[in-house]
Amino acid sequence: MCGIVGYLGRRNAREILFSCLKRLEYRGYDSCGIAIVGEELRIFKDKKQIAELEREVPEIKGSIGIGHTRWATHGKPSRENAHPHLDCGNKTAVVHNGIITNFQKLREDLRERGHLFRSETDTEVVSHLIEEKFRGDLLEAVEKAVNELEGSYALAVVREGCREIIAARKESPLIIGIGDGEYFVSSDVPGILDYADRVIYLEDGDIARIGEEGVRIFNCGREVEREIHKVPWTSEQAEKGGFEHFMIKEIFEQPSVLRLMLGAYVSFIGPSLKFELRPRDFSRILLLGCGTSFYACLVGRYYFERIARIPVSAELAS
Ligand code: GLU
Repeated sequence: MCGIVGYLGRRNAREILFSCLKRLEYRGYDSCGIAIVGEELRIFKDKKQIAELEREVPEIKGSIGIGHTRWATHGKPSRENAHPHLDCGNKTAVVHNGIITNFQKLREDLRERGHLFRSETDTEVVSHLIEEKFRGDLLEAVEKAVNELEGSYALAVVREGCREIIAARKESPLIIGIGDGEYFVSSDVPGILDYADRVIYLEDGDIARIGEEGVRIFNCGREVEREIHKVPWTSEQAEKGGFEHFMIKEIFEQPSVLRLMLGAYVSFIGPSLKFELRPRDFSRILLLGCGTSFYACLVGRYYFERIARIPVSAELAS
C-alpha cells in the first residue's frame, strides 16, 4: 500500500512532508517523491529510501506541498515512474494511490491531442487531464478529470500559482488532518499524528479544496459536511489503527485490501462482482504462498481444478 501526504500552512513544507512520509514507511514502498509550491512548482523523486531522497533535496522555500511513497502497479520502480507526476507544462503535480483501469484509452486519446508522456504509469493521465480541463479553477479541473477515470484512486493535486491542495478519493483511503491554522492530507492517521489530532475521513466521491481559509468538500457537484473526528491515539497506537495488535488490524483490513487488489480485474456492482477476466482466458494457474498460505493454495488448487477445470499448481513462494 502506498502513501500520500500533503501540507498547507505557514511552516516549511519540505520538512513536514518528509517527516509525514517517514510515518507511512511501515506500509512499504519502492520509490518516493515530493512536490512543493513556492514561487514555482518543484518536484523531487527517485527510486530511493525517503531519508536518502531527503538528503538530496535542497532547502527550498514553500509552505504547500504533496508527497508520495509508491508501490508500483503499472510501470517498474524507477525515477520516471515515481510520483508526483507532472503535466506537459510542468504546472500541475499529482500523487495517486490506486489503479486507473481505463488509463490506456485515456493515454491514447491524450497522446492524439498532443500530450507527451514521461512515465509508464496509469497515474500520469490524471495530470494531463487536469492540464486540459484547467480554466483558472483547480477544483473544477480535478472534478472534470476524475469524471473520466475508472478504477480506484486517492489523489492529491497542487498547481503552480494556486495556494491550495485538491484531494479526491474513490475506493482508496484518504484523510484530512486539521492543525492550528494548517492542514494535512494523508492516507492514514499515523501520517499526520505528530502535527494534528483532528481528522476528516473523506468518503467515496468526495473532492476537497484545502486552502488557507479552510477545507470545503464537494460530492457530485454539491458542497457536503463531513464530521471532524478527534483522534484519541498516540502515533504508536495509531499505526495499529486503534487495534490492540497488528495481527488483528491486518485481519480486519482484509476486505478493503482485497477490494483494492481485485479492483483491476473486477467491477463492484452493489454487493456483487463482475469479473473482467474469464476463466477460459487462462490455460494454467500458479498459486504461490508461504506457511499457512501455502496450505490455503493447496485447498485453492482443489477448488480451481474442480470448478474452473484449469490445471493448477501450488508452489512454496520461498
Ligand atoms: N498505480 C500507480 C502506479 O503504479 C500508483 C501505485 C500506488 O498506489 O503506489 O504508479
